Amino acid sequence: MTTSASYDSIIIGAGAGGLCAAARLTAAGKKVLLLENLNRVGGRAGSEDIEGFTVNIGAIAIELGSTFEETFSLLNVPLDLREPNPATVFRIDGKLVNVSKGGGWGLLLGGFTKQAAKIGAKFADARGGDLPEARLSTEEWLNKYTKNATVHAIFRNLCAAIFAANADELPARAFLTYFAIKGAFKRFGFCPRGTQGVWDDLADGIRAHGGEIRLQSQVTGLTFDQGRVTGVTYTHNGHTETALAATVISNAGPLATAKLAGGEALGEGYLARAQQTLRPAANIVINFATRERLVDAPGLITFGRTRRLCNMGELTATCPELAPAGWHQYVAYAVPRPALGDFDEQAETELALQDLRDEFPGFTEAKMLSVRIMRDDWPAQRACAGFDMPQDTALPNLWHVGDAVKDYGDGGTQACALTAKIAAAKALDYLQEQPA
Ligand SMILES: Cc1cc2nc3c(=O)[nH]c(=O)nc-3n(C[C@H](O)[C@H](O)[C@H](O)COP(=O)(O)OP(=O)(O)OC[C@H]3O[C@@H](n4cnc5c(N)ncnc54)[C@H](O)[C@@H]3O)c2cc1C
Repeated sequence: MTTSASYDSIIIGAGAGGLCAAARLTAAGKKVLLLENLNRVGGRAGSEDIEGFTVNIGAIAIELGSTFEETFSLLNVPLDLREPNPATVFRIDGKLVNVSKGGGWGLLLGGFTKQAAKIGAKFADARGGDLPEARLSTEEWLNKYTKNATVHAIFRNLCAAIFAANADELPARAFLTYFAIKGAFKRFGFCPRGTQGVWDDLADGIRAHGGEIRLQSQVTGLTFDQGRVTGVTYTHNGHTETALAATVISNAGPLATAKLAGGEALGEGYLARAQQTLRPAANIVINFATRERLVDAPGLITFGRTRRLCNMGELTATCPELAPAGWHQYVAYAVPRPALGDFDEQAETELALQDLRDEFPGFTEAKMLSVRIMRDDWPAQRACAGFDMPQDTALPNLWHVGDAVKDYGDGGTQACALTAKIAAAKALDYLQEQPA
């Protein structure tokens, strides 16, 4: 075993949360080591090449204009994203509805229920702080206003598209917090090199500012002294190494981190609490390409009444370089039932494919690129919104980042960037308080 240098911060895992934390601490002039198990950065939001098509594994739509973009600007790294226009549309009973032109919830729901205005008013109440109690599901909440099947389908598919959960699984409080209070994904873009390009750029920025990133380096344990974390052990090229640090930030998720810490090091009963609290959310990702364009919508389409399909995007409408010439490349998402528990992968995937055949007759001619099931310890969201753990641990110099410790009602890479901002600020405060 060899012991390497000592760092201000060691970050375990180079997913969205880990990279953003490393970027912030590097930008603040700290000595940072980022350790990643895989041979690439980006975690669950990478991309792969399949027969000349750049296919995304996880996130495709990266939010603009908030914490995520701020992180890049701290290191002067350009955020290479192209915004589709319109960004989102709904496809209901075969017709496209573009709410970005105005009309909002009223326009969307008005044709199906007389209660559209009342539902809209509830969003306004939520903005004013009047939110339902945390155990009420989105479906139960909506049932108070309408039983209309299309309205329920729209809400289910919004829950599925944003949170990878069904409306009977997602707390209404989380749904309303996101759509009424937070940004609700208004501005986003696709990376023309696949989402992997975004992470590679950020990693280059971290290195250019003195941060160290080691790939294929699996953290196998944490070291402690007097109630503080003092560093990590990790394996690289068959060697076990130890690195020391004043602070540690983990992007591996609370469960995996508790196992790395061993025993009850993160606090009494921590592991059991993490097992009970965290509800990983699953989705099914179908990547395909067609010669004929299926639908005239360059952004993300959210569907109305479907079995499992919730949303879809034609990435080449905005980023043609993702596919070889002459191809339209799509990604479609489905959310299984249940999304927060065990499900039959084959049956659920078949229901999603049936939806695609029903929506788009041309789908039967599609070239299938990949079907991925994101679940368990490589899920769509490590915790469904409303079922997150705190970022803090019982140790004063160890914090979590990533999508298991999000702010209430948050989701996706933007949420991870916010966890990184919070953890990095706490690490900087801690470092400042330590004697030189
Ligand atoms: C299909 C799909 C579609 C999505 N679409 C969107 C979208 O359009 N927009 C959006 O914003 N979000 C989307 N998301 C969500 C988004 O991708 C995730 O929320 C985000 O990528 C999770 O990042 P994270 O910080 O939690 O880290 P993770 O991606 O979980 O990364 C953690 C990293 O830590 C590494 N690691 C773990 N343990 C160790 C260890 N012991 N030693 C070293 N390294 C370790 C892992 O290898 C991994 O690279 C989508 C997700 C999926 C699956």
